[in-house]
Amino acid sequence: MFQPAKRCKLIQLSEIRKMFELTPENAINLSLGEPDFDTPEHIREAVKRALDDGFTHYTSNNGILELREAISCKLADENKVEADPENITVTVGASQALYISLQALVNKGDEVLIPDPGFLSYDAFVKLAEGKMVPISLKEENEFQMTPDDVLDKITDKTKAIIMNSPSNPTGAVMQKEDIKGIAEIAEDHGIYLISDEVYEKIIYDGKHYSPGRYSDNVITINAFSKTYAMTGFRIGYMAAKPEITEELLKVHQYNVACASSLSQIAGLEALTGPKKCVGEMVAEFKRRRDLVVKRLNEMGIQFKAPKGAFYAFPKVHNSSEFVNEAIKAGVIIVNGASFGKCGEGHFRISYAAAYEKLVEAMDRLAPINLKS
Ligand code: PLP
Repeated sequence: MFQPAKRCKLIQLSEIRKMFELTPENAINLSLGEPDFDTPEHIREAVKRALDDGFTHYTSNNGILELREAISCKLADENKVEADPENITVTVGASQALYISLQALVNKGDEVLIPDPGFLSYDAFVKLAEGKMVPISLKEENEFQMTPDDVLDKITDKTKAIIMNSPSNPTGAVMQKEDIKGIAEIAEDHGIYLISDEVYEKIIYDGKHYSPGRYSDNVITINAFSKTYAMTGFRIGYMAAKPEITEELLKVHQYNVACASSLSQIAGLEALTGPKKCVGEMVAEFKRRRDLVVKRLNEMGIQFKAPKGAFYAFPKVHNSSEFVNEAIKAGVIIVNGASFGKCGEGHFRISYAAAYEKLVEAMDRLAPINLKS
């Protein structure tokens, strides 16, 4: 009988993917974090040109120089993070950047602090690296923001890394500048690596994004084009880290994928160097969708504060698994909060990356659900 490697037994297929694949006909799927917009035209055109020019071969392992230079400028101008192009690795989405960070840093039994509730993959990536996942419980009364005290509470002599994610999936929380700076300083003082997942940095409605990499060079800054430019299928992202970390990241990256797709790198280059208006337009539309979802859920008697960033709402209900089941019966796919960690229990996550009209229809379907059941 086939016996998989033990590490595979430690992880499960993502609940969200399973729900996505099971979506019954006519159901509205609000389970995925997938912007419904087309990838902006100028990006698609750049890829077509590159394809016609035969740019279809391996690139250097860490990515084409023009793209790494553009990323370096972007990080310096927008994030105040200093990273030379040789300390940037172009990856297959943020997912691969997270995966190789943990592979490069974590030894068996090392502890990695991750937000709870938090993005599902963090737990799996820590387990695949044979590390020990230590959840940092985020409190709803603090709008699910991670604070330096939360982190200090969990640090032991085995702590190797902390994963931070602002704006957050699944809560939409946007961390405060002081907290980000405080956590970066803790990482620096304790010789711990801070892995900062910034994929939603541009999708903010209230507040501002600060990269911890501006306060410490113990930070691995991870970002991707997936959410900001509606480029999820291109699978392109990047990471910046200090030279000694980059050297190790590159080894894992090289044997893992050789390099990111050549055409996707061109798409990323065009996203960074081409017109930016499309991003503001998409964010304005996400805000309109957020306002709709918050208003309609509040009208149903589900009270919660409007999320400040990303494109998820994470409200609490009397019985979240019952609510999710009722929603599915009504033809709306949402995710139970417990999938994102123990502190997500009692909540559900609804993604408002879907079209406005679909969200209106979904809210009409949810409205009759009896919340007391
Ligand atoms: N990080 C967070 C917080 C996410 O929500 C996601 C996707 O949902 C990712 C990383 C993965 O991004 P990518 O599609 O670029 O691999």
